[in-house]
Amino acid sequence: MTTSASAPGQTPTPITWTIAARQAPPAVAGGQVGVLALQGDFLEHAIVLKQLGVRTPEVRKAEELEALDGLIIPGGESTTMAILMDTWGLRDAICRRARQGMAVWGSCAGMILIASSLRDDRPKPLGLMNIRVARNAFGRQVDSFEADLQVAPLGGRPFHAVFIRAPLILEVGEGVEILARLEDETPVAARQGKLLATAFHPELTDDFRFHQYFVDIAKGVR
Ligand code: GLN
Repeated sequence: MTTSASAPGQTPTPITWTIAARQAPPAVAGGQVGVLALQGDFLEHAIVLKQLGVRTPEVRKAEELEALDGLIIPGGESTTMAILMDTWGLRDAICRRARQGMAVWGSCAGMILIASSLRDDRPKPLGLMNIRVARNAFGRQVDSFEADLQVAPLGGRPFHAVFIRAPLILEVGEGVEILARLEDETPVAARQGKLLATAFHPELTDDFRFHQYFVDIAKGVR
């Protein structure tokens, strides 16, 4: 069997694309944005960042955080990710690096994990961002939905957002700017300094504006 990975003129299959995304891209001035790769859809984020020309290590160990300007905590299952984070000593390391100025973007399960408090008993969040979050706030998996959002820092064109058993932001505290709301005013994206939270999954669309926005935050240019 031949693969289409290097055949000129052919569109790579998703599988070959995935393999390509795992190969280290060339270093790009402006640093590195890692993706926490314990569970969930970290690979989809890595693929987007690679297309933006950003060096994107997969992070599984505390020492891998040291060189990063930014870290994405992806969507997935927040209790599982929290257990794995604690097992591998990543909780304190992520908090320490965030205090030192590493940008952190929590998307969906990642937003649950970076919150300061949750409506739910589990998991224990990292407490990085001044937001209170409710898990599974729109119902069960079958109640997942998509919506076009106005996101001020991304310009006028609406952002098509995919919500999968999504959380929502119940309250925001001091220093938090709400970036996007649903039609009923529910906040679903927010920023606090170098911290970014989205209740939805920008890595599942081909609109890379949220990723570029986070890269710019990590570089300190936004
Ligand atoms: N429902 C998941 C949780 O509570 C999050 C879903 C997601 O990341 N798409 O952890």
